[in-house]
Amino acid sequence: MTMDTPFWNKEVETAPRSRIEEIQLQRLRETVGWALKTAFYKKKLTQVGIQSPEDIRGLEDLRRIPYTTKDDLRLSFPRGLLAVDMREVLRVHSSSGTTGIPTVIYFARDDVDRWTDLLARSIVGTGATDGDVFQNMMTYGMFTGGLGLHYGAERVGMTVIPIGGGNTKRQIQTMKDFQTTVLHVTPSYLLHIHSKLGEDGIGRADLALRKAFIGAEPHSENTRRKLQELLGIDAYNSYGLSELNGPGVAFECVCKKDMHLWEDAYIAEIIDPATGTVRRDGEEGELVLTNLVRRATPILRYRTRDLAFLHPPGCDCGRTHRRLSRILGRTDDMLIINGVNVFPSQIEERIMKIPEVATNYQIYVDKKGALDRLTVKVEIYPKLFLGEVAKLEALRHKIVEELRASIVISPLVELHEPGSLPVFEGKAKRVVDERPKD
Ligand code: ADP
Ligand code: ZN
Repeated sequence: MTMDTPFWNKEVETAPRSRIEEIQLQRLRETVGWALKTAFYKKKLTQVGIQSPEDIRGLEDLRRIPYTTKDDLRLSFPRGLLAVDMREVLRVHSSSGTTGIPTVIYFARDDVDRWTDLLARSIVGTGATDGDVFQNMMTYGMFTGGLGLHYGAERVGMTVIPIGGGNTKRQIQTMKDFQTTVLHVTPSYLLHIHSKLGEDGIGRADLALRKAFIGAEPHSENTRRKLQELLGIDAYNSYGLSELNGPGVAFECVCKKDMHLWEDAYIAEIIDPATGTVRRDGEEGELVLTNLVRRATPILRYRTRDLAFLHPPGCDCGRTHRRLSRILGRTDDMLIINGVNVFPSQIEERIMKIPEVATNYQIYVDKKGALDRLTVKVEIYPKLFLGEVAKLEALRHKIVEELRASIVISPLVELHEPGSLPVFEGKAKRVVDERPKD
């Protein structure tokens, strides 16, 4: 059975696999040409004997290219991965999870254009139309979630409300005032919003909501169902990461059975994270992505550290692009706190620079209502506890500010006397994550 669904670019979205592979090969060659203009890839590709796009004779030649890691991106900061003249760069984005040195992604005009098109495609695939009012609750700024969907929604012709993240009362009021029909939001924030409905006299019946695009953080099928039932909407999973443009890498269609990964724009591989061996459809492993549509910062075989699997081709909607499963975990210790990526090492690096802080600390994550809550517990030197309370409060505040500067979000900070936090013999367990797994 094929579902009757709308398309943005039916020819590409339903292209036979052979056609998709043809496009991939042509674009891979083009991308290798761009990559050879960067200092980083020039060295890396030359080492494996790839000196020009013609050295890519078939898609299997992709396997000759070494993987690219987050560290490679950091070490190339700021321009090691820039393939065009700065004049041609239209926009800069960076990743939310950064340790000290940020990862920066440059977009040329045609890059923004192609990315926007992928988002328009994703949006239309959910059944949203130019008749919808779209409230974008993702953070704008250097994050890709805000501007990415913003441009895509405009291209579809939706009425866009660029409200950005936070300020729940205003979000609810705005949903009512403009009769918002579609949201872009993290699942945890949407649950939070639901819990606040009715507080200011605005209830579900005053709203016109019909859909939500939920992403930027892992969530289960149960969470999706819960959101759908509580709010009477359809919720669609949206996956992306800034290294690969941002949202629009993979998005659910009306069937809501995992996310079509746009294979004319990305080559997806699943690998064994320990050995690097490529796995087959249906087998779980680390997702590796090659961007085929970005000229200013080309990225080949990027190790996302996200664990997932790919379904074999085929979907009731008629799209031929393979579907990506939910993200099942991470190969590293990255925490996602209300959609923002945080590495424990970022926290450690900051607090250890503060002279008053002793050697032991703990990162504690739990839920307050629907939202994630991050608490950093630090031990400080005993003599400080003998001083004035105001001084302690100032120190606590200073630590909050230091951390906020690094991890973007504001954690709670607790000061403890030395010896009061658990001590470990051998490998310390610094992170205690007590968020319920549903
Ligand atoms: P964002 O601004 O969306 O957080 P980042 O590049 O900072 O973009 O973070 C990307 C990471 O966020 C991904 O590698 C993945 O771990 C996580 N992520 C994004 N979307 C999803 C999703 N739908 N489900 C699970 N995890 C997601
Ligand atoms: Zn589909």
